Amino acid sequence: MPETRAPLEPVATPPAGRHPSRRSVLAAGFAAAIAAPAVAAPPRPVARVPRAGATPRNVILMVTDGMSIGTLTLADELHRLMHQGERSRWVKLWDKPGVRRALQRTNSADGLVTDSAAAATAWSIAQKVNNGAINITPDNRQPEPILVRAKAAGRATALVTTTRLTHATPAAFIANVPRRSLEDDIARQLVERSVDVALGGGRRHFPEDLLSKHRLQTVRTTAELEAAEPGDEPLLGLFRNGHLRYELDRRSFFAEREPDLAHMTRIALRHLEAKDKPFVMQVEGGRVDHACHGNDAGGMLYDQLAFDAAVGAVEDWAAERDDTLVIVTTDHGNANPGQTFYGPTGIEAFAKTLAFKHSFDWIFDQVNEDAENGRDRPEAIHRHVRTATGIELDETEAETVDRAMNRERVSPFRLMNAPWCVLGSVMANHTGVAFLSPNHTSDLVEVTAFGPGAEAIPQYVENDQLGAIVNRVATGVSAR
Ligand SMILES: [Zn+2]
Repeated sequence: MPETRAPLEPVATPPAGRHPSRRSVLAAGFAAAIAAPAVAAPPRPVARVPRAGATPRNVILMVTDGMSIGTLTLADELHRLMHQGERSRWVKLWDKPGVRRALQRTNSADGLVTDSAAAATAWSIAQKVNNGAINITPDNRQPEPILVRAKAAGRATALVTTTRLTHATPAAFIANVPRRSLEDDIARQLVERSVDVALGGGRRHFPEDLLSKHRLQTVRTTAELEAAEPGDEPLLGLFRNGHLRYELDRRSFFAEREPDLAHMTRIALRHLEAKDKPFVMQVEGGRVDHACHGNDAGGMLYDQLAFDAAVGAVEDWAAERDDTLVIVTTDHGNANPGQTFYGPTGIEAFAKTLAFKHSFDWIFDQVNEDAENGRDRPEAIHRHVRTATGIELDETEAETVDRAMNRERVSPFRLMNAPWCVLGSVMANHTGVAFLSPNHTSDLVEVTAFGPGAEAIPQYVENDQLGAIVNRVATGVSAR
């Protein structure tokens, strides 16, 4: 069975890093118009609050991949429904004294809409690159990624993610590859360049002959992770062949085998502390992005809440110290979901998400399996949606999804004819949560930061400017 049904990247846009020639003239002018300044604008001379330990020792960059502000809003509303009106950890951070908030512009060197490779590269090397490239600049230079330079500067390093460790966002912190799809190369670089703690999925890209050549402590289950003692050897956690499961599916069946993001984050912090030197860590809730590509409100909400728990874990860890800059953000918007029903109808509709048990991946896996066994597909769609979400589709709705699975066009917006988009639209009739498209968007995104150095983040910040700030802490020198 394929691991996921939804494409992880846009289907109707040109392949990453290339433009159709008919657009090239336009693109050239456009690129110039949207390019970031080569040098970061100095922070505005705002009143700064002097504080003890104003030079951070450590930096933690927390990234929920592909989070439009609607995703943060809805996850916060779901948190309130679950916890007697209490706000989510991320949103509660905004009350914290000294917290800095900014809006981040996420465009890449060649587009308004970035992909995750270009977005994370902007943080890693403080430069914008073309979509699809990982630490390769448009003029073909290969600057060393942030974790390589951090290590050379005597820092400990960590990557924690719910995706494959070789996926674009973690990859951009450690690897140089012209295309993000070169995941075997990324795995080799990750091992050779020696990240002190690397936890996530992607086991299939780390063959035994690669692992056996290096001194590593490799763990594959939650129990092995918990038992791992901090030591000199880098800790490599590979908990699944592909991505870790969506939180909704993980907690139903697989909690013993696959740790959640907050758990991995706490253990990574324990190992980093044992190193007794400054560190830089990136924590990624990587599958929020996948759920948004798939227009899957349940997958999105519960993974965003799992990320929120990891934010809580980091805030709790940092509570007694004043030496760590924590930045919580996303690399770009995705599909811009939102609650669209007015008044009590909207509250009632949204509350149905409390009963969700499975992702769209799970639904489509079951439906396809039934169809392969000769069962009626619209009936299977109806039945598995009910099991996964408690929602009863009407006959027309199940049939519309079935037609989309036959590649019939059912939506005027071409991008919205993928079966998962049609299922997402059908589900919006019941939950009120509607999506814009299956693609990333160019929206400004939220940045929340606390700890020493947070006040230096401009309140309108380019992603490569934010990268320059992270780099200064992570390597002790300015990246540009
Ligand atoms: Zn994406």
